[in-house]
Amino acid sequence: MTTMQILETIQAFREAHAGLSGTLGFVPTMGYLHAGHLELVRQARAECEYVAVSIFVNPAQFGPNEDLARYPRDVPRDLELLRAEGVDLIFLPGGDEIYPPGYSTYVEVESMNAVLEGVRRPGHFRGVATVVCKLFNIVQAQRAYFGQKDAQQTVVIRQMVRDLAIPTEIVIVPTVREVDGLAMSSRNVYLDPEQRAAAAVLYRGLQQVATLYERGERDATTLRTELQATLAQEPLAQVEYVSIADLVSLQELDGSITGGALVSLAVRFGRTRLIDNVILEPQA
Ligand code: AMP
Repeated sequence: MTTMQILETIQAFREAHAGLSGTLGFVPTMGYLHAGHLELVRQARAECEYVAVSIFVNPAQFGPNEDLARYPRDVPRDLELLRAEGVDLIFLPGGDEIYPPGYSTYVEVESMNAVLEGVRRPGHFRGVATVVCKLFNIVQAQRAYFGQKDAQQTVVIRQMVRDLAIPTEIVIVPTVREVDGLAMSSRNVYLDPEQRAAAAVLYRGLQQVATLYERGERDATTLRTELQATLAQEPLAQVEYVSIADLVSLQELDGSITGGALVSLAVRFGRTRLIDNVILEPQA
């Protein structure tokens, strides 16, 4: 095993990468790592000769009233976790390395602004696509790993890679969950114990929809109403949206589901906004 190199500049990263020969797997993160991130790292480790992880809290993907200033950070702990996973390269840039004075180029996947998170978080995916595109150019990995937890993000990245002919293969990793089903997220630390217990309702609701679908229920409106009803049983859950959408366009479905669907939601517990989703696979 090589020792883990921590690179803070684009030039240093490129030089370190040039010293390796073999496939590189890349896991972009905003740090404050949990078992979900580590699962992406493990899959990259299993499929590639070298693994690179970036830690960068990307200001461009936070709205003016979002949690950029209080986003949780613990780089020393993150580095220990990544060392234990046998990661080869860490890219740990400062803000000016990514967005130097005079920075002015942005990547926008236009179709994604009109649906789900794109509507509720204007500018979010523009920030995500821009930073991921830049990181891809720096890291030059053969494969990059993303979590299904952020379902629309995976669609945005796939579309960007296709549209801009970026030669990086995108790999999507299933959502890693706590024992009660809550999707792991760096933002879960914001929840107080009562909110944390209540948040289990999200996956309960999603599972219930998946079960109804497996038993043959195909009506999108019925499934959406069921999910709303389950969430309504939890007084601490303030629902922002629940969605049953087409897997590719992410447009809302009504009537009978024929080609599978993405079931997704955004729910607030106090000031903390959580998202989660499950996929209803197309049936033969
Ligand atoms: P973040 O640090 O929140 O930007 O997440 C970095 C990557 O980890 C993204 O591709 C996320 O989708 C992924 N990720 C976050 N939480 C989970 C989870 N619970 N299971 C699987 N992947 C996750």
